Amino acid sequence: MKKTPFVTKEQIEEIVKTYPTPFHIYDEKGIRENAQAMKEAFAWNKGFKEYFAVKATPNPFLINILREYGCGCDCSSMTELMLSNAMGVKGEDIMFSSNETPAEEYAYAYELGATINLDDITHIEFLEQTIGTLPETISCRFNPGGLFKISTDIMDNPGDAKYGFTTEQLFEGFKILKSKGVKNFGIHAFLASNTVTNEYYPTLAKTLFEVAVKLKEETGANIKFINLSGGIGIPYRPDQEPNDIREIGAKVREVYEEVLVPAGMGDVALYTELGRFMMAPYGALVTKAIHEKHTHKEYIGVDACAVNLMRPAMYGAYHHITVLGKEDAPLECTYDVVGSLCENNDKFAIDRQLPRIDKGDYLVIHDTGAHGFAMGYNYNGKLKSAELLLKEDGNVELIRRAETPKDYFATFDCFDIYKKMGF
Ligand SMILES: *Cc1c(COP(=O)(O)O)cnc(C)c1O
Repeated sequence: MKKTPFVTKEQIEEIVKTYPTPFHIYDEKGIRENAQAMKEAFAWNKGFKEYFAVKATPNPFLINILREYGCGCDCSSMTELMLSNAMGVKGEDIMFSSNETPAEEYAYAYELGATINLDDITHIEFLEQTIGTLPETISCRFNPGGLFKISTDIMDNPGDAKYGFTTEQLFEGFKILKSKGVKNFGIHAFLASNTVTNEYYPTLAKTLFEVAVKLKEETGANIKFINLSGGIGIPYRPDQEPNDIREIGAKVREVYEEVLVPAGMGDVALYTELGRFMMAPYGALVTKAIHEKHTHKEYIGVDACAVNLMRPAMYGAYHHITVLGKEDAPLECTYDVVGSLCENNDKFAIDRQLPRIDKGDYLVIHDTGAHGFAMGYNYNGKLKSAELLLKEDGNVELIRRAETPKDYFATFDCFDIYKKMGF
């Protein structure tokens, strides 16, 4: 499928008069339509809730849009909890799915009334010692190990992942928690990432539902919810077929009716913790071509770099690139599109077929709405960009200003050097 940006050259030329490149821009219309589709796909389940994975796009303006569709927040750190709390998201609207959790984060999550999702059996005791009791409702993260397959395709390798309880530990953990007075239980698992297939959730659901039935039978635990977590992917490449969330919802329903309903568990709520699927396609990194270099290869230098979008450098991830105003031009050049870090992996594209790029052209790097800005860092003293929201009415709103040198040096503010810089 041809990938078309949600902004035009004309719009960007207008926007850069106020907000210089590089910046991430988000598409309100796309976010809303997708959130609505998500809500409808699981409306058959009475307790359904999507807890947006805050780490993917920790911006309150964007999360507030999702809240209109009933979404809560999935947090995994102190600052994510603080952000949720400041936004007025509290209690059962927060899922705390952390791992290797510091005591103070458990204490704060408990204070906010968040649902705590334990990553390990040893954390039962750790949590109890930290908060002096155990919450009435608790969730455990399950990791069955081995390879996660859909028919014969290997999707991911949970056996190599640091997360979750083994099957034995899950049963043991439920028994311990129950003996300590916990009343309601949840089960969570995240077994494959960025899956571009409608089969991931239904396959995962089957595993979790079957375990839930056994847990109930063997331990007598009251299972209140099953959390399918994240992992639904998006088509980063033009040749990939997007997931169909309605089909995913319908297939999970089939499994629910096949496994849970006959076991008398037709009241179990389903939760999700999607990040990428909710936001990635609705964000883009806009950057300007500022140099071209002809050496052993053809390079286009842009004003963004890996600190704005780390996925290509970190995972070799593909992000589609559109040169604005040249959407239909022939792909006659082969470029490496590179940033300015003193790091040779600072490349947004390698050997990419693109239209001939001139200095001053604007490039849209697609699908940066999740795990994009958020993964940013400050290597080479590079500053993080602004985030903008393209509203449904066509206006643009600043939803995070760009970092300034003062922000970058702020952690020196107790030293003389800071004053010498004139801040
Ligand atoms: C990262 C993460 C998510 C979101 O994953 P996506 O791939 O963005 O859907 C959900 N839950 C947990 C616990 C995570 O760590």
